[in-house]
Amino acid sequence: AIFNLGSINADLVYRVPHLPGAGETLAARSFSRGLGGKGANMSVAAARAGARCLHIGAVGADGRWAVERLMEYGVDTRPVATVDDVTGNAVIAVDDAGENNIIILPGANRALTEDHIARALTEATEADSFLFQNETNALRIGAERASARGMRVAHAAAPFDAASVQQVLPLLDLLFLNEVEAAQLAEATGTEAASLPVRDIIVTLGSKGCRWHNTDSGETRSFPAFKVSPVDTTGAGDTFTGYVMAGLDRGMPMEQAIRLASKAGALMVTRMGAADVIPDLKEVQAFNPP
Ligand code: ADP
Repeated sequence: AIFNLGSINADLVYRVPHLPGAGETLAARSFSRGLGGKGANMSVAAARAGARCLHIGAVGADGRWAVERLMEYGVDTRPVATVDDVTGNAVIAVDDAGENNIIILPGANRALTEDHIARALTEATEADSFLFQNETNALRIGAERASARGMRVAHAAAPFDAASVQQVLPLLDLLFLNEVEAAQLAEATGTEAASLPVRDIIVTLGSKGCRWHNTDSGETRSFPAFKVSPVDTTGAGDTFTGYVMAGLDRGMPMEQAIRLASKAGALMVTRMGAADVIPDLKEVQAFNPP
């Protein structure tokens, strides 16, 4: 199984004629509330890819709907705590040209306790994986606990923070970075991704595909992206990561997990939205872009 320590957000999306300036009051054309947060997106992707995924996280009393939606998508939400804080949310303004402004309030996502994480991991074994991003607190504690249990420890270093990723690097078996994050980490460490002390490193390159560095073999392999017409790139990386983790959890070799995840990422960019539109395994298998 995959134990994913991650954020749960309400994505509050306002469609506006133009992005508001300082002091401006603007009427939105429409509003929608979707499930988002990198953590929730990755849990949904892993579950929809067929893995058993337990989400370790927190919401406020206003976040029951988000937990119910996670459950509908097949995520085991028993390790989601309800805390005395507001559910994480993102206020997103999108204009007619597709440009956006985003305000994120971490809220309950930063209210996790060491005790809660330890309890969530009591049944985990070395056959399980631990995944985390950088939208919750207690990352180091979670990674240490998971590592001590012999789990495969994987991290998506987003949103990027050099100090935070460097703190957990020695605990990682697998690191996901996008192109920008890889450049930021190289600058912070003075080392290219391929030379970091992590066994497997995957650098995603959007429409250019991805690269996988394996430090055991010293090899770097490139994987092409599938050709699609992008509509909304939100959640592509999260979908890709969840699918890779699900593939590995089901015993796939890395190459096969990456190819499946690349297809899922490509299909995701053809859809508007985040967690609510992440494709399931059947849809990904049936998707045959040129
Ligand atoms: P992030 O969203 O974290 O920046 P990327 O944009 O690198 O992540 O996307 C992750 C993966 O999703 C890519 O490696 C690729 O396989 C797939 N993907 C993303 N954008 C596209 C695209 N425009 N066309 C095809 N595949 C894409």
